[in-house]
Amino acid sequence: MRWPFKSLDYLYLLIFLWIFYDLFSTWSEYSTCYAPIQIFLLLTYIFCILFRLYLTVIIAPDLPRTAKKLLIILFHWVLYPFSLYLVTQGIIWKIQIDIHSPLCTPPDRAPYVIWVWIGLDAFLSMIMTIMTITKLIFWVKVCLFRRRYQRIFNQGDHNALNQLLLEDETLNSRIALLPSDLERLPTTIYTEGLSDLLKLDHQSSCPICYEEFVTGDQVITLPGCNHIYNGNCIKGWLERSPLCPMCRANVRTNLHHPPQSSNGEDLQQVCVRENYEKGQEDLENQRLV
Ligand SMILES: [Zn+2]
Ligand SMILES: [Zn+2]
Repeated sequence: MRWPFKSLDYLYLLIFLWIFYDLFSTWSEYSTCYAPIQIFLLLTYIFCILFRLYLTVIIAPDLPRTAKKLLIILFHWVLYPFSLYLVTQGIIWKIQIDIHSPLCTPPDRAPYVIWVWIGLDAFLSMIMTIMTITKLIFWVKVCLFRRRYQRIFNQGDHNALNQLLLEDETLNSRIALLPSDLERLPTTIYTEGLSDLLKLDHQSSCPICYEEFVTGDQVITLPGCNHIYNGNCIKGWLERSPLCPMCRANVRTNLHHPPQSSNGEDLQQVCVRENYEKGQEDLENQRLV
């Protein structure tokens, strides 16, 4: 994974190092406070750093999928409740020290500074609430879409399936392919002339792993756009996204709306089938020789 941090992140870190130093150098001065407000400040600083760290790392383009999932879970289930706890605890402790020991904070600190940090926590908490609710709504929509899609798919009702894909275009372009879709991807045997046959610019290697194709390799040609990939590479990709990595065509939609020939046959399937049969024959002949 490439290093995701930029100069602004280092500046942010430097500012917080200074804030930490400032807090620890005055730590003992808070000892007369009715509530341990210095602990609230320490936790708030740590929270701000973790929040920024999350926003920076999560958008790294080459972040491994499992790491991304783990980070999202930690964000919504650990960092978000932590922010709610901080706001609540901060308000309680601040009110307690205002009542019982109003002059306990270091004399050179403005009294409203703690309220500023509570306000910042509340603001970040609000952003996290919006992010969590949005995520939750999306997750419910995804579950409903997948269930509906699988049900209509199993019934074999093509019209209803097409209608669903058109109705929910946004979800359709964001939800990965289901195992039942992956099984239907057309496999063919790679030959020198396969790109010509599929009316493609010459494609001699897998665009995901850059491995050169060799005649006789079993490859997958995506429906609609016909781009050629190693089976394992493209299946791994389509388990995360329904779009062709080369041209962003929606593989699920093309799987159900393949270009038709005049007699109603799926043109690409015909090409792929013929090429597969020809490839099998060639391989058989080679073995016999
Ligand atoms: Zn590959
Ligand atoms: Zn494509």
